Amino acid sequence: MDQIIIEDLKVFAHHGVYREEQEQGQNFYINAVLETDTRRAGIMDDLAFSTNYGEVCVFVSSFLQEHTYRLIETAAEQTAQALLLRFPLIRRVSLEVRKPEAPIPLPFGSVSVKIVRGWRRACLSCGSNMGDRKAHLDGAVASLRADVKCRVLRVSDWIETAPYGGVAQDDFLNGAIVLDTIYTPEELLERLHEIEKEHQRERKVHWGPRTLDLDILLYEGCVMYTEELTIPHADMANRDFVLKPLAQIAPYERHPLSGKSILQMCGELELISSP
Ligand code: ADP
Ligand code: MG
Repeated sequence: MDQIIIEDLKVFAHHGVYREEQEQGQNFYINAVLETDTRRAGIMDDLAFSTNYGEVCVFVSSFLQEHTYRLIETAAEQTAQALLLRFPLIRRVSLEVRKPEAPIPLPFGSVSVKIVRGWRRACLSCGSNMGDRKAHLDGAVASLRADVKCRVLRVSDWIETAPYGGVAQDDFLNGAIVLDTIYTPEELLERLHEIEKEHQRERKVHWGPRTLDLDILLYEGCVMYTEELTIPHADMANRDFVLKPLAQIAPYERHPLSGKSILQMCGELELISSP
């Protein structure tokens, strides 16, 4: 992706673990690489299609002066997040906070923290088979739309499906959602659990009836396997109620392990399930 690069923006601010640092302040230097698509602005010669680097500099400088953090890790984290939320065309930012006057009792050039943060594309599945099923699914989308750390891009139709997993229960309404998010996978799962709770979700029977189930199917190209989280979703290739709605809104998204597109996975599932 194209880059807008800011080097050594000097900001006098008060970040530091020591009281003297917070009281007296010192110089910080900021390096930022903003990943964004400059093509349209470049062709049209029009700043409206790009991000104004002057505004970015003023924003970063004010942000670091208005807040006081003990760690430059936090200064970098919070500034990167604020940038991504404030400037919609920045897809990713690499941000370095340098502190050459840090209180280290040895000769040194500089210390800095450099991080890369950005918007990531995630695909979710949602399902409900208790109460007002449509209201639960619509409510989940509304909660995600209201969250500044998510940008809902596409929502599938809600489709009626038979229950899965051998527990006798009512039919489900299922769907899929594509969004960009600055949450990490773990943070996104936590947020989805909060939204499930808002909808009185109780975990009683595994694969049992639920007001709302929100799962992460894909998260950019991420592959992970921890106690809380498996991405891509472990069973997505076997679930037509997951693949069908997802195929409506993200047909060419690919499974990062098999390399298969959602459409291909749909095709294979129908081959297997039909005699
Ligand atoms: P299920 O979604 O399989 O019907 P639950 O919603 O009760 O069942 O989820 C049980 C646990 O599965 C969650 O608490 C979560 O920690 C874990 N989990 C693992 N991978 C994922 C994922 N990709 N998306 C959502 N939950 C996941
Ligand atoms: Mg779930």
